Amino acid sequence: MNIILLGPPGAGKGTQARILVDGRDMIQLSTGDMLREAKDSGSEMGKVVADVMARGDLVTDEIVIGLIREKLAGDKRGGFIFDGFPRTLKQADALAQLLEETGETLDAVIEMQVDDAALVARITARSTCGSCGEVYNDETKPIPADGVCTSCGTSAAFKRRADDNAESLKQRLMEYYKKTSPLIGYYYAKGQLSSVDGLAEIDDVRAEIAAILG
Ligand code: AMP
Repeated sequence: MNIILLGPPGAGKGTQARILVDGRDMIQLSTGDMLREAKDSGSEMGKVVADVMARGDLVTDEIVIGLIREKLAGDKRGGFIFDGFPRTLKQADALAQLLEETGETLDAVIEMQVDDAALVARITARSTCGSCGEVYNDETKPIPADGVCTSCGTSAAFKRRADDNAESLKQRLMEYYKKTSPLIGYYYAKGQLSSVDGLAEIDDVRAEIAAILG
């Protein structure tokens, strides 16, 4: 099964993707994580994307499509969860073509709906476990007082993303509305779109997604 989680930054795509990975042996393909890894590794591509990401702009279609193409050629397990990809119509067309070439189908596109005020509050309070990526929130799910991650049990450093600040976020939202939100209509027209309330409790969102996937 291959599914896309679609929604603005902070909608909870990563959190739900991690839940799906555990429950269904699927592979999370987060282009944001891949690009951050490239940046941290200091590779040529990482250097090219670092400033673009810090500003909150989108990286070129060619770079992200290349990253996804490589992953689709590898291990597939129970299928892929696309988290943060596609983000443009060109990426969506490329994904359709790549799946066709490998004889696979896109089984669902799940739009996670949230309002902007909630996104800003969520993102500016967000941190993640440096070891397993579990997401914490200063208000609703604070880092445990003993500094041990509740998901992986290690006391790794907890990280805040460099682009989780008010200025980059404004640009990331702008990019989302200009370039990514047209995908809602694109997948609706293809009969593949389902929507969930991204502001519901994490477990309720999980259940809504499970009901869609069957
Ligand atoms: P994310 O972790 O999904 O919020 O992505 C962080 C940043 O990586 C974005 O603000 C973009 O600069 C870049 N990025 C991630 N995925 C894509 C994509 N599919 N297309 C273009 N840029 C991307």
